[in-house]
Amino acid sequence: MLLIPCPWCGPRDETEFRCGGEAHIVRPHDPDSIDDTQWASYLFLRTNPKGLHRERWVHRHGCRRWFNVLRHTVSHEIVCVYKIGEQIIVPAQAAAE
Ligand SMILES: [Zn+2]
Repeated sequence: MLLIPCPWCGPRDETEFRCGGEAHIVRPHDPDSIDDTQWASYLFLRTNPKGLHRERWVHRHGCRRWFNVLRHTVSHEIVCVYKIGEQIIVPAQAAAE
């Protein structure tokens, strides 16, 4: 069981949250100017790293706000959480893994 530190509410049980997938996926600026392959890539292709992964989470049974989590996909360790739009600061030890 994960203990996820919501930036607004503090540490809560993972059952209060929902993962929204990979973070920092940017919608193409002009969708009409890209081809179907690029559009499909935007819609469906995601990274699947064995290691650190940036994810979006929502505190659905709490403040209902979205935020980002930097989580290790093997150990499930949460390295840090940060609000949408904030710069991520990865601790040096975690970045080296
Ligand atoms: Zn919250």
